[in-house]
Amino acid sequence: MTARLIDGVKLAAVIREEVAQRAAVLTAHGVRPGLAVIVVGSDPASQVYVRNKVAACEKAGLHSVLEAYPASMTQDELLNRVKALNAEPTIHGILVQLPLPAHIDAHLVIETIAAAKDVDGFHVSNAGLLMTGKPLFRPCTPYGVMKMLESEHVEIRGAVAVIIGASNIVGKPMAMLLQSAGATVTICNSKTRDLAWHTRHADIVVVATGKPRMVDGSMIKPGAVVIDVGINRLPDGKLCGDVDFDSAKEVASAITPVPGGVGPMTIAMLLVNTIEAAERALASK
Ligand code: NDP
Repeated sequence: MTARLIDGVKLAAVIREEVAQRAAVLTAHGVRPGLAVIVVGSDPASQVYVRNKVAACEKAGLHSVLEAYPASMTQDELLNRVKALNAEPTIHGILVQLPLPAHIDAHLVIETIAAAKDVDGFHVSNAGLLMTGKPLFRPCTPYGVMKMLESEHVEIRGAVAVIIGASNIVGKPMAMLLQSAGATVTICNSKTRDLAWHTRHADIVVVATGKPRMVDGSMIKPGAVVIDVGINRLPDGKLCGDVDFDSAKEVASAITPVPGGVGPMTIAMLLVNTIEAAERALASK
């Protein structure tokens, strides 16, 4: 059996086109959706991510501002920039690229972003709203995964879903979204005993660990849907996921590739969240 490929590039393009249409409507009503992206330090992966995010905004007709600061930026300086953007009416979404340098408390920075502009959905009030089933913003990566499952008509209600990875930005919100959609969810972490026992019972497996190719075909139930969130740079410079694609695709019914899977969806959903924030700003005018 060879799995169907879930093409994140193609689906993201459709979503970005819808975003462009919604942006045009908002702009015609005098509210051009605006996203501010802050990056501190020179982490090469972060630099690529922020450039891609800003470029995607421009392409979809959103206003975007990229603020890049040296690693020597102090915590107070960063908090003051966030507060200034909170008060800036042309900015509807604020994203602070993680990781931040060690001398800056990332949690404090995220809590300083106005919840209504927290397009990453990481603020505790947004995490709480998600947990209680009334999300304001869905974190972009899990939101993108839900869109992929929806586009593939994957039956979530009643499905057994296993998520490997329990981070606040991927694993936990992913669990909340799948659980809200009716799946029975298990979240695994690095201490989970007999990981393969869990994955072999799953109709949907989402892997987000940052451990290259740690899940292979022998761990997948025949016919399961496999979503690979991982992005790992190999010594030869190539990218690979947390799933061993070649063996998993022989067992799964559908699978996301890396690159070209979840990554492009994360950016597309960031645009969607920015549009949603701008639409709310217009509605409250
Ligand atoms: P974190 O490092 O924050 O979390 C990793 C999680 O995986 C932890 O919960 C950890 O467990 C768990 N884990 C690590 N090793 C194992 C293991 N051997 N078995 C089971 N669980 C394990 O990572 P992120 O969630 O931030 O990112 C995960 C991956 O997803 C990375 O490759 C990242 O680059 C990628 N990513 C991709 C995005 C995209 O757009 N495609 C967006 C965001 C991230 P424990 O809690 O016990 O430490």
